[in-house]
Amino acid sequence: MSEVESSGATTPEGAGDFIREIIRNDLATGRHKSVVTRFPPEPNGYLHIGHAKSICLNFGVATEYGGRCNLRFDDTNPAKEEQEYIDAIKRDVSWLGFDWGEHLYHASDYFEQIYDWAEHLIKSGKAYVDDQSPDEMRASRGTLTEPGRNSPFRDRSVEENLDFFRRMKAGEFPNGARVLRAKINMSAGNMNLRDPALYRILHDSHPRTGNAWCIYPTYDFAHGQSDSIEGVTHSICTLEFEDHRPLYEWFLANLPVPSHPRQYEFARLNLRYTVLSKRVLTKLVREKYVTGWDDPRMPTLAALRRRGVPPASLREFVKRAGVGRANSVTDLAMFEAAIRDDLNKNAARRMAVLRPLKVVIENYPEGASEELEAINHPENPEAGTRRIPFGRELYIERDDFMEEPPKKFFRLSPGAEVRLRYAYFITCREVVKDTSGEVVELRCTYDPATKGGNAPDGRKVKATLHWVPAAEAIPAEVRIYNLLFTRPDPGAEGDVFADINPQSLEVIGDARLEPSLGQAKVGEAMQFERLGYFCPDIESTPDKLVFNRTVGLRDSWAKAQGG
Ligand code: ATP
Ligand code: MG
Repeated sequence: MSEVESSGATTPEGAGDFIREIIRNDLATGRHKSVVTRFPPEPNGYLHIGHAKSICLNFGVATEYGGRCNLRFDDTNPAKEEQEYIDAIKRDVSWLGFDWGEHLYHASDYFEQIYDWAEHLIKSGKAYVDDQSPDEMRASRGTLTEPGRNSPFRDRSVEENLDFFRRMKAGEFPNGARVLRAKINMSAGNMNLRDPALYRILHDSHPRTGNAWCIYPTYDFAHGQSDSIEGVTHSICTLEFEDHRPLYEWFLANLPVPSHPRQYEFARLNLRYTVLSKRVLTKLVREKYVTGWDDPRMPTLAALRRRGVPPASLREFVKRAGVGRANSVTDLAMFEAAIRDDLNKNAARRMAVLRPLKVVIENYPEGASEELEAINHPENPEAGTRRIPFGRELYIERDDFMEEPPKKFFRLSPGAEVRLRYAYFITCREVVKDTSGEVVELRCTYDPATKGGNAPDGRKVKATLHWVPAAEAIPAEVRIYNLLFTRPDPGAEGDVFADINPQSLEVIGDARLEPSLGQAKVGEAMQFERLGYFCPDIESTPDKLVFNRTVGLRDSWAKAQGG
């Protein structure tokens, strides 16, 4: 694949992408009265961020041009498909913000019709039953530079073909014994036209049709015809199907189909440091490299939801990435920027300390406490305020203190004065260490005149630290997710599983959260001031809160990219 930096939409603002241009044109010229699209997942895995692009495109154009978009499961291979995936896909499409309404379909709804069309091809001399073994068929297919060879069974009579095909359907033969093939051209330059398989024998029960069938249409024989049955006007798919288009058109031309959808291909979404191959993602789950399809390190929609990524930020990301025909690889920075822009605008602010260091305010009266007001969003007064208890003992971030600070370290150090957010100025008077020499506590004093964070005498401090009250803070586990792969192009030089980052998960066992975070909603990201965006994980229990880091506050990729 040629690597082109993704530079946003490929057509000018307002005009939309090339697909929208085609649709507008088709509506303007009256070729179509309304637009019908579909999102056609195969239920053999969970949806990932690449699928989000296809979902946003298909549902997006239907909404924008007053048409409709069907959700259709291309469920033609029961060997790999499961109900769990069907349920997950529906959940994820809804979560992403799209509604198929009444228009939920399955290729398996059309099995009867597709079967009849197979007989139609047989009867018109355009399909035959091949008894060759899979190996023989592969060997006689030829290569890109050499034509294939006709099967010795290619010239069977219509009667014989019908008889064999019906007996395949009746279950007389084992898996792989025979295949129904289209009779097109074994020396076609396009390999897809070299008598492709239409039906295979597969004694396997199907999530929807149970044991009704033991032969199943191939994806190629079902896909275009399903579109036609649904009256799809614009059959939008990714570039790898460009070479299949002549085959789909051959089917449409040779079958009494109700409509003739046109196929348009766009470039799939690729992301650096990320794998979007279902085969690899399935293996990551099955072989327990991750904890499941919704492990927050995965690129699946279920994982992103669990991680606290707002669906609107995914839609925005897809929009910024644009739709074009040039293969490209998108930077993670662009993905994270979309998430950050959304959360910066919408996420409530809270305080939490990831690695606590105890602070005792020596001149704060023992046993006393007060409540200080903190704002929930700096740019949105309507978000209101909340109260945080303040007392003699607090926690600050371990990183915010240095006993021997270098020149530009403005945070806390012996003798230095800093502001505690929403509270007071404090000065560090003494450092307490344990027997191993580790700093375990800071003895500080506060200036009661600086309540709210400003000194009446106008003196300034150079740092504002976040903190939590020691007694009231809630202990929590915080999970930081790093890249799942160590290379921007995982697998480019061999085994993709060898490129897995052994440090992809960092667990912080003893973080402390301000008390209001006890009521936080699972999956809803909040900004922990100065730290990033975090949300409660589904594994949280009343006894143990678990938070996920959704994304950091700043772009860390610029550095990663530079090497
Ligand atoms: P496979 O066919 O190998 O199982 P797939 O990712 O193509 O994997 P499908 O369920 O067939 O999975 O995908 C459903 C739709 O999503 C298809 O129309 C496909 O073209 C589209 N799609 C899949 N991956 C991407 C991607 N990375 N970018 C954009 N669209 C994608
Ligand atoms: Mg596919």
